[in-house]
Amino acid sequence: MKNEIVLTGLGVSHGIAMGPAYLVQIEHPRAPEYLLSPEHIAAELERFDHAVTQAKKEIQALKERSAGLPEGAAAEIELLLDVHLSMLSGSRLIRGVQQRIEQDAFNAEQAVEQETHILAEQFGRLKDPYIAARGEDVLAVGHRLNRILMNVPYLSLSDVPPGGIVLAREISPADTALLDPRKFSGIATVQGGVAGHTAVMARSMGLPAVLGLSPDLLDGGHHGVFAIVDGIDGKLVLNPTPTTQRIYEQKLLQLQRDKKTLKKLAALPAVTIDGVEILLSANLEMPRDLDDIQASGARGIGLFRTEFMFMNRKNLPSEDEQFENIVEVVRAMKGAVVTFRTLDIGGDKLARSVGEYLSEASNPALGLRAIRLSLKEPHLLRTQFRAILRAGFFGAVRILLPMVTTAAEVQQARKILKECYAELQNERVPLPPALPPLGAMIEIPAAALSADSLAAVSDFFAIGTNDLIQYTLAIDRGNDQVAALFNPLNPAVLRLMEFSIQAGLRAGIPVSICGEMAADPKFTALLIGLGIREMSMGFASLPRVKQRIRELTIEKAGEHARQVMDQYDPERIIRIVNSFKP
Ligand code: PEP
Ligand code: MG
Repeated sequence: MKNEIVLTGLGVSHGIAMGPAYLVQIEHPRAPEYLLSPEHIAAELERFDHAVTQAKKEIQALKERSAGLPEGAAAEIELLLDVHLSMLSGSRLIRGVQQRIEQDAFNAEQAVEQETHILAEQFGRLKDPYIAARGEDVLAVGHRLNRILMNVPYLSLSDVPPGGIVLAREISPADTALLDPRKFSGIATVQGGVAGHTAVMARSMGLPAVLGLSPDLLDGGHHGVFAIVDGIDGKLVLNPTPTTQRIYEQKLLQLQRDKKTLKKLAALPAVTIDGVEILLSANLEMPRDLDDIQASGARGIGLFRTEFMFMNRKNLPSEDEQFENIVEVVRAMKGAVVTFRTLDIGGDKLARSVGEYLSEASNPALGLRAIRLSLKEPHLLRTQFRAILRAGFFGAVRILLPMVTTAAEVQQARKILKECYAELQNERVPLPPALPPLGAMIEIPAAALSADSLAAVSDFFAIGTNDLIQYTLAIDRGNDQVAALFNPLNPAVLRLMEFSIQAGLRAGIPVSICGEMAADPKFTALLIGLGIREMSMGFASLPRVKQRIRELTIEKAGEHARQVMDQYDPERIIRIVNSFKP
């Protein structure tokens, strides 16, 4: 009987999951290095040949399986797998490895390692980003070959058993886009912070998740053992003792009972005791969330992250393709407002389809991204605007610009939006009767500090606390090493928020919060006390926040906010917020 192991990390998505651990990214095993005696060279060449044949078989099988994915993703993955297949047939890679075995008497694993690294480096030096990316493919093919040569079993995200717990170094936004949340029950990773994209995605899928765990997580011995993800206390338990398991089963039962109570809230309004209604909307990452969003009682979509349309593919989505995706959501929301945010790619959110516009940057979080990229390559923005305007005929839409720094950016975008509207009118395309509201994300300190000038040119504000905290405190939102310092209650962050809210209210424009702060009921009274009347969050968080709203009065929330805003000590603020009772 193995011992119980408890690893502690960041609980980023509420809930408890139990099931078999499925280790997705085992550390690549180190290739053994030895020299062959001349009589063993022929056998080694043959061993390598077998590995190549096996690798081709694996890739073929993957190709067949990818056919079941959504159209864009399937085409993209197939292209990639074809590249890998071509690297295994009479390529420079294969010849290079054979030469190293024959001439240098290297064992096959060592020959693969050396040859793939040299090739990847050569690719990486090339200017064309598309070709440079082939370096990663060479390395991936090399890892596959060496895994086969070393008899290490192949594991992939698509093979997670039903109800399994995914253990991985990291899960990128592109990976999550391909995951089917119904197939597994929890996530545990080494990398990732509270407001990083894995966390946001896990919450949006309602999957319990613990991130920022020790790399011990990736020990091959954990594969298949029984595991518990405690997303509330931030723990991963491997091989729980019968007592631990019983305790968690009790907790799970209690959670299920709570969930039922919360479900009943979906039909009730989000009003305070003194009758002030708070508009609760949902954030949408993937159209697959639509049913859940409707069931959650959301009054609209306060943030539609359009990035998913650009992920897991090499080419850009056409206007028609974007229109199809967008109109599906607009129609499903039956007249409730849907807020589309234009492409927020760059920095931590990457997509190969826009790779040609982004060069390698030493500081990508501060680089060409989001609205900056859209204004530099206006065809990206035009395509999105046209698709959203067309969809606006079928329901109520708003357009939100990400990572705005200056009023000039909003003005430039509005000029392009007007041009697109006029163009479509000329083309006699059915359109909404007027330009949809155009809003700015407040998520860069400069935007918060110039909120009054931004309010003059924007139709609404959406405060993105994830990035606002990251940029104000200089804390990478996805980095587990500084995750403990990622503090939404830092007075600097709160003052920037208060300043933006006040500027928006003075200008008479709606101000919402759509960062993760909106999703935590602990902050609800503070946000309402600061003047917020609209919030948008992952649908799974909506009932809890609504429950809190229904226990509050505006007066009590205002008092609480004033008490918090009078403080300058972050620790004291945390104590005040944690001990708040409605
Ligand atoms: C934010 O930064 O708070 C936000 C809502 O946007 P995203 O998480 O997509 O960067
Ligand atoms: Mg953001």
